[in-house]
Amino acid sequence: MIDEALTRGEIAVIGLGRSGVAAARLLVREGGRVYASDAGTGAAVSATAASLRAEGIAADCGTHDLARIAAASLVVASPGVPPEAPPLVAARAAGVPVVGEMEVALHALRGVPYIAVTGTNGKSTVTALVAHLLGALGHRAVAAGNIGRALSDVALGDQRPDWVALECSSFQLHDTPSLAPAVGVLTNLSPDHLDRYPSVEAYYADKALLFRNAMPASRWVVNADDATARDLGAGADGTRWAFSRADRHAAAHYDAVRDALVLFKEPLIQRVALPLLGWHNVENTLAALLAVMVADEAHQTPVARAELAAAVLSFHGLPHRLELVADYDGVRWINDSKATNVASARVAIEAMTQPTVVLMGGRHKGEAYTSLIAALQRHARLVIAYGESEPLITRDLEGHVPLARGGSSFDEVMQRARSAALPGDAVLLAPACSSFDMFTNYEARGDSFRRLARQGT
Ligand code: ADP
Repeated sequence: MIDEALTRGEIAVIGLGRSGVAAARLLVREGGRVYASDAGTGAAVSATAASLRAEGIAADCGTHDLARIAAASLVVASPGVPPEAPPLVAARAAGVPVVGEMEVALHALRGVPYIAVTGTNGKSTVTALVAHLLGALGHRAVAAGNIGRALSDVALGDQRPDWVALECSSFQLHDTPSLAPAVGVLTNLSPDHLDRYPSVEAYYADKALLFRNAMPASRWVVNADDATARDLGAGADGTRWAFSRADRHAAAHYDAVRDALVLFKEPLIQRVALPLLGWHNVENTLAALLAVMVADEAHQTPVARAELAAAVLSFHGLPHRLELVADYDGVRWINDSKATNVASARVAIEAMTQPTVVLMGGRHKGEAYTSLIAALQRHARLVIAYGESEPLITRDLEGHVPLARGGSSFDEVMQRARSAALPGDAVLLAPACSSFDMFTNYEARGDSFRRLARQGT
């Protein structure tokens, strides 16, 4: 599809964010003609459009030339552009195929093997750990995709990597028809993005597209403890390996007797040695190790196993995922701003080993908060509900857990947390919501938490 589009007419790139710009440049490098546009009018997008024009790429901001888009040979849409946006409606009406930026990048990187990671939670952690482990085995490996660096940016680089760890959101899976990973990892599935999908089934259907080009040579890493995730690609061609917290038959599992992570029947590392907090990170580590080991049999030798074990110890996780940001006056401040849905907030709460003041709130995404009650009863000294979802959180949790209202600003939320926390406590930001009511993204929310937490030091 890309080859044909490159030689026939113009390719329209919609959205001038990082990935759109990288895709536009890549398409030009591959010999295509490109028209890039973005409805935004801010200074940043204007500067981006100007720099593309300076490189000889047609670019508009503040408007989309819909007639030009409808006449394109292909439309490349950035992940943030909703399907009902006018340029995509125009493209579909004119029968122009629409793909995502990842499709363009995979075409440019053909021949480079990749481990694709999807699932509701744990994607970024597993993706980063996979890249870290491959690097420790001596490969030139990069992490890309939904984790932050656009795959097109990797493709634009001078050196082709040996391996890519590729995080795929459900939206990216939907828009990448040629996705065919050497190894595909499905971490887990639970309801999410109900603000953007009509039903949970529609969300899972996009996740199932991980398996869309399954072949006999495909390798899959699946979660034996999650029935929904396990069943999703059950009929797909290829070989499947399972990871599990408990099932001794799984190729990668936790062995409670030995307190060790066991890979292919041999303990690889003790659980107590893991630098990452929480049981979910035992799962993430099992998934990443298994994916790297099945990617190539050379990764299963005793020497490789020792290198992998050492690499697990030197992986300290990503910011905004159970990140310890301050520790003073006996109180540990932990930033899990990336807990943007109920399931991820639950594992963060369950990872706490001290009485915890939990900060929860933001923009509601459609799920009830009642399933957090049991975990909060075990771990929370107090829940401070804040932001747009405060009334809904209050309605779901009232009478079950100690609850306070956060007030009107994040500063106030943090002040209340400071007054409530006692020596020996933790303060955990586990919002269970998106950040868009108060912040531009979860990173900005986590950065505020970190800055305000450290103000007390
Ligand atoms: P994703 O990229 O899928 O959002 P991350 O690795 O960034 O996943 O983790 C996001 C949040 O999800 C973490 O802050 C943590 O609270 C939770 N989480 C991480 N791994 C898991 C897991 N295996 N199962 C459930 N929740 C998880």
